[in-house]
Amino acid sequence: MSRVPGRHFLQIPGPTNTPLRILSAIALPTIDHRGPEFRILALDVLERIRHVFRTEGPVVIYPASGTGAWEAALVNTLSPGDRVLMAETGHFATLWSRMAERLGLDVELIPGNWRSGADAEAIGARLAEDRGHTIRAVAVVHNETSTGVASDIAAIRRAIDRSGHPALLLVDTISSLASIDYRHDEWGVDVTVGGSQKGLMLPPGLSFNAVSEKARAAARSARLPRAFWDWEDILAANRTGYFPYTPSTNLLQGLRVALDLIAEEGLDAMFERHLRAAAAVRRCVAQWGFEIQALDPGEASPSLTAVRMPSGHSADQLRSGILDRSSVSLGNGLGRLADRVFRIGHLGDFNDPALLGTLAAIEMGLSANSVPHRSGGVEQAMLALAERKHPSVLAAE
Ligand SMILES: *Cc1c(COP(=O)(O)O)cnc(C)c1O
Repeated sequence: MSRVPGRHFLQIPGPTNTPLRILSAIALPTIDHRGPEFRILALDVLERIRHVFRTEGPVVIYPASGTGAWEAALVNTLSPGDRVLMAETGHFATLWSRMAERLGLDVELIPGNWRSGADAEAIGARLAEDRGHTIRAVAVVHNETSTGVASDIAAIRRAIDRSGHPALLLVDTISSLASIDYRHDEWGVDVTVGGSQKGLMLPPGLSFNAVSEKARAAARSARLPRAFWDWEDILAANRTGYFPYTPSTNLLQGLRVALDLIAEEGLDAMFERHLRAAAAVRRCVAQWGFEIQALDPGEASPSLTAVRMPSGHSADQLRSGILDRSSVSLGNGLGRLADRVFRIGHLGDFNDPALLGTLAAIEMGLSANSVPHRSGGVEQAMLALAERKHPSVLAAE
């Protein structure tokens, strides 16, 4: 392969760009995971990661991709044959439901059109019908990364409460943590699943379960087989600053710095930065004359936008041309959206020029690939950014 000059733009909705300060911390020498220096590191990150989930409870950290933390949420809380209510918001919700089936759970999937969020009313109505309380858990994806649609977790919580049903609430925040407002404690979530490689700005390799008291109580009687994923073994070791096995020491060194960066920017400023970028991307896409996958603008994701290709045009050909010419990586369509949409990641570590550069590369790619569109999308994005106060200005006020 010949040399590609200039900076590569990793604008897929995860993994995201890792800031140099984090990469430098990961590049430090590996330390003894049973030694005193590690203990200080572990106690520090275990304490501070809770703020990102907005919880006072424990957060379990796994050396695994997000998929591992999905499994952990299920096997710690449920027993073979337990009924789980899930919402088919897109590819990731479907994958999680298939995993639940493979683990021997009885999954009831509320069908969806892959263009809308989880329907809180439908979840509440199904729970209200379930007078025998056979449904043990409701599991939903907060931000469906395949469609760019975010679900209203607070509304789902209220619907569960109105039904008076005791089901646990399990939420996947892998592509929303630290980029979209999320409140584990306030929203009464029992297990929040997170991953390192999206809003947290780390490389892939760490994942998380934030765990409520009710979830820990459920774990005491849950009978799905579990060993590596067992919360209690890990939490017991964590109390003294260690893990029951070799943790990802270098990624934890990176996590410490990621938590510093999050504290320096402020979670609320991060959420606003993502909202502002998303508004600019949507304005740009509207100018091009394309639809986004989210049907309701109120549900459109702050962290990524899935753009529908005009019929007869291949999203994958467009993406590969943009990668070759501009060194910009865009997300592909997943599952039934393969080749039908491309996804613009606007999450993690980015600023206005990175966003505008990405949109300009796409607009050039549309012309180069002869995809019919109206030009001037980037200009609309610039106007949208100018209209909304920069989050750093808000933070200073
Ligand atoms: C990325 C992602 C996953 C999968 O995480 P892996 O780290 O690839 O295992 C699951 N759910 C959502 C919402 C995601 O965005």
